[in-house]
Parts: sequence; structure tokens; C-alpha cells
Amino acid sequence: MSIPANLPLRNDLKGEEPYGAPQLDVPVCLNVNENPYPPAPDVADTIAERVREIAPTLNRYPDREHIALRKAFSDYLAKESGTRLAVEQLWAANGSNEIMLQLFQAFGGPGRKALSFTPTYSMYPEYARDTFTEWVTVPRNDDFTINMDAAIEAIKTVKPAMVLVTSPNNPTGTPLPMDQTKALLAACEQADVDGADEGVHPILVVDEAYVEFRTPGVPSAVSLVNEHPNLAVSRTMSKAFAYAGARVGYIAADQGIIDSMRIVRMPYHLSAVTQTAALAALEHTDEQLSTVAHLRETREATAEWLSSLTYKGRNITVAHSESNFVYFGTFDDRDFIFNELLKRGVLIRDVGPEGWLRVCMGTDEEMATFRSAFLEVLELAQ
Ligand code: PMP
Repeated sequence: MSIPANLPLRNDLKGEEPYGAPQLDVPVCLNVNENPYPPAPDVADTIAERVREIAPTLNRYPDREHIALRKAFSDYLAKESGTRLAVEQLWAANGSNEIMLQLFQAFGGPGRKALSFTPTYSMYPEYARDTFTEWVTVPRNDDFTINMDAAIEAIKTVKPAMVLVTSPNNPTGTPLPMDQTKALLAACEQADVDGADEGVHPILVVDEAYVEFRTPGVPSAVSLVNEHPNLAVSRTMSKAFAYAGARVGYIAADQGIIDSMRIVRMPYHLSAVTQTAALAALEHTDEQLSTVAHLRETREATAEWLSSLTYKGRNITVAHSESNFVYFGTFDDRDFIFNELLKRGVLIRDVGPEGWLRVCMGTDEEMATFRSAFLEVLELAQ
């Protein structure tokens, strides 16, 4: 970082670092929860063809409303979650990171609060900082489930504009059961919002970045969108859909929430290349998602394997995960484990509460390398 002191950087940003996990050139990267399996060659061909087709039109701005893509997400969610939503209830952006930022820009701001349940995704406080929204947190239970009594009490007393829950949660993998989603929604529908008019209620944002990895048959919060105008469900193509490099996230919500986001979005925020590439991949939805079942099995096998191991005479604890990563601990010196794994070419993530580590599911070969490296490191650490 090199920011001269005579630059008028915002006072509250002085000393801040850009967010991001290390991008290191190592053989086994299991640190940013990507799908390790690349698009198949025929999918890559379709993407290239579709982008070639629109290349001669790139002198023009893209469809600001990205209608074709919103229709494609409507079809995708109808199949994936069993709920049909209108184009007006869908919206896309450059990753669900941008979706979240637009939500904070529209509903947060000076005098407004956002409430969430920690440990959770570490970008949320940054969106809050960037939009001058007060960030309020309630700790999760020891098993990383949400403490529902404390959560409902906080919604009442904090009077946030936004309540954020991640399901499955990052970094812990913890799902939010449907009855709890409904209870949080009911609490929001009865609560007031500090800094807003009377009769205004908080929105509940459910971040379902990893939801395709959940146990098959479990409903998604998308199934509640048609009945709840204060619910927003954020999704992404970056994880299960194996498309992190394309930067496409989207949201399912009442038209009122989408129209609020449309006020703060940049004009033409989603490039024609991005829209086309997203549509091309959605033509191959089944192929793009074909590795999800295997990654789920990899997760179950990895969780079981890690729980069978001991560290300093005690069993390693593995948090219940419905995601494509596993959170495990605790280690007296997690930096040691992290660094020794890195020396062996395996990059994982040291994130969240002290002593815990997160490993994302890789290919079978990558997981074999992880397992043998971890056994060596564990031996050293005893
Ligand atoms: N939400 C959660 C919970 C995440 O873990 C991530 C990525 N790590 C995102 C949102 C953002 O993903 P993207 O911008 O790639 O859609």
C-alpha cells in the first residue's frame, strides 16, 4: 500500500487495507470457495461463440435492464427452487458483492443500521463502512447456529434497516433452517427502522451464495419471495455454477426492493460481454452444475475424515456444513497449520474465530494432496 499523507483520502479509510484472500501461485488453492472443476469444452465453445456474435455491437451500450438475463434467472430459479418469479423480481450485478453493495447503498447510509450474526462473511462490514451504515452484530451459538432469541430481540431493539443472514453461512457452512428464516422475517415485519418513517420495517437479506450445495430437497428462501415484500435473496454464479471469473451475482426480491436498487446502480453496470457470457453458461446449466453432487460427497467425506483425527490429544471439531467448504478446529496456533500447509503447496483460509480454519472442496487429486499434507502438518503440530 502506498497512499501519500497529502492525499484527501476519507479520514475513516486511513490505515484500511483492500479486502481479499491472498492470490498465491500455489499448486492447490482451496481458499476462496470456488468450484474447482472448469467449464467443459463445449460450454467454453458456446461462451466464445456468443461473445463473438455480439463483438460487432460493442460500440453500443448494453441493455441497462439486462432483461434477457433476468428472464434466464427466472427460468433457472423456477427449476432450482420451484418458484417462478417475474423479471421485475430479479436483478443481476457484477458478483453478489455488487448486489450487496447496491442493497447497502439503497437501504443503509448515515443513521441506518445493518444487523448480522457473527462469525459471518467478512465483506459485510466493509459494505457498511463504505456506505456509512452502522454495523451491529449478535454472536452465533457455539455450534454456529443463530441464537434465535438474541436475534429476534436485537431486531426489535436495534431497529436495523437491513438484517443479513448467510445460508449456508461463510465461513462456517451452517444452514439457516426454514422455520428460522420465517421467524426472522416475522420479527422484521413487526420491527421499526431507526432513521426511517413510522410503519417502515427492516428488510431481511438472505445471502444464498452457496445454497446449491445444500441437502437436495431442502427449500430455499427464494420460495418465500412471492409472499414477503421485505425479503431479498442473493445468489451467485461464482460458486456451484463454476463461473467465478465471469462475475455474475443476482437477487430475487419484491419489485419494490429491486426498484430501490435500480436507483443506486451505475448506468450500464453489467457489460454486454458479462450478460452474454452469463446467458451462454446458463444455456448449459446442467453441465455447469454437474459436479455439485460430487462436491457434496467430497465435503461429507472430508468432514468425516477430519473428525476422525486428533490434535494434541483431542478430537478435531468439524462444523456442520451444507456448503462446498468445511470449517474445522480448534488449533492452539492456526497460523502454524496454515503456514506449514502452504509450504506443502496447499492454500486454505485462516478466517473467523481464533483457532478455526476453512478448507474449500477441490478436485479429488487436490483433496488427496490436502489430506497427505495435513497429516504431515498435524504430526509436526502435536
Ligand atoms: N456472499 C458470500 C457468503 C460469499 O462467501 C461470497 C464470496 N466469497 C460472496 C457473497 C460474493 O461472491 P461473488 O461476488 O463472487 O458473487
